[in-house]
Amino acid sequence: MVPYERYPHARAAGNILNLRPPPIKALQEMGVDTADLGAPCHTTFRNAAGHVRADVAIPAEVVAQYGGGFIGMLRPDLYERMLAAIPDGVLHTGKQVSAIDDHVDGVTLTFADGNVQETPLLIGADGIDSMVRRHLWGDTPKRPHNLHILGGFTFDTSADAEPNEVVLTHNRTVQGTHTSIRSKGVSGYQWWVLEAWPDDRPAPTDLHAHALPLASGFPGPLANLVSVTSPKNVQRWPIRDIKPLKAWSRGRITLAGDAAHATSPYAAHGAGMSICDGYFLGQLLAGVDLNSPTQVSRALTEYDRIRIPHTTSQVQQAYVLGKVFHHAPAPLRPLRDFVLDHTPLLQKQVGEKSPGEIVAQLDEMGSGILSRA
Ligand SMILES: Cc1cc2nc3c(=O)[nH]c(=O)nc-3n(C[C@H](O)[C@H](O)[C@H](O)COP(=O)(O)OP(=O)(O)OC[C@H]3O[C@@H](n4cnc5c(N)ncnc54)[C@H](O)[C@@H]3O)c2cc1C
Repeated sequence: MVPYERYPHARAAGNILNLRPPPIKALQEMGVDTADLGAPCHTTFRNAAGHVRADVAIPAEVVAQYGGGFIGMLRPDLYERMLAAIPDGVLHTGKQVSAIDDHVDGVTLTFADGNVQETPLLIGADGIDSMVRRHLWGDTPKRPHNLHILGGFTFDTSADAEPNEVVLTHNRTVQGTHTSIRSKGVSGYQWWVLEAWPDDRPAPTDLHAHALPLASGFPGPLANLVSVTSPKNVQRWPIRDIKPLKAWSRGRITLAGDAAHATSPYAAHGAGMSICDGYFLGQLLAGVDLNSPTQVSRALTEYDRIRIPHTTSQVQQAYVLGKVFHHAPAPLRPLRDFVLDHTPLLQKQVGEKSPGEIVAQLDEMGSGILSRA
């Protein structure tokens, strides 16, 4: 398998990131050094007064093995570790695929530099604007959520935030969150604020200045964390996803990562699912004769069967949470908050169902990347 990257270097798009236990397991199986890659955290959802609405339940044995349900880190660190696990010369950079010709015996790739390459299998892990997805399934426009997220990180510990906790708080219109991170052996914090923002409205000119008053609406150390963060460590993303596809694979071509299931950061699991796609592809393709169209097609059909339900559920839940917390009509917000404060609804959904589905992946992954579960 030859990975092609269009840019001269494989680079992290962004700063903050969290991974759950299944991608950590997948990374370990792929030979990535995950030791002290991030800060293991326990997660609660709270209201603006600090009342806990949901406590994310992760089984004790998973916590013991992975340290918790949410591991906070910086993206460049993850990239560095992943690139270190790839033998020299395997990753081909500066190679932008510009055309795909799918024929019975294989797939012909044409690159922007004019080179042509034949491959028996094409996995399009080419992001939310995937050309491979367009080749397979036509136009699947991005779905704007009319939300944006501003996030940053700091190693200044003077804000006195509780370590190893994800404190995910909603007021009537904004989500404000802070969590621990580890980077190169140093402890710190990441934070983000998320609010409704029309997709076509220009970004605020000063991200740090925009984030500060939003963070000030929350109890605890969030505003202090934003204050002590260097403006250069603050980034913004408009939130968009892709409406889940019914099928990913056709013939000798499939999709992985955001190309298959671009997800709102409300899931905090898009990269995790992408890493697990790679794990399952490795497992399903181990021992397959890539020259046999039947064997390739059987493996990819199984891949769709295993991956589409889980990723669809995560994409849709993240989409709905964004709607509920940021696009509910103003008169309904007190009622929404009453329900979330006084019923087990949020606990059941984000405290139990969703983490249950994620932890169940560990069993589905089985004992190793080369042996089917
Ligand atoms: C604000 C924010 C916070 C998030 N937080 C989390 C989180 O906490 N946890 C989590 O798990 N996920 C999170 N996500 C989601 C996560 O960032 C994405 O799901 C993940 O980065 C997708 O990885 P990918 O490799 O599929 O796509 P990408 O990272 O987009 O990579 C695609 C690659 O393909 C290359 N490429 C594209 N076209 C071509 C071509 N024609 N030829 C050759 N190469 C090509 C690109 O250059 C790029 O390197 C978050 C997302 C956002 C926006």
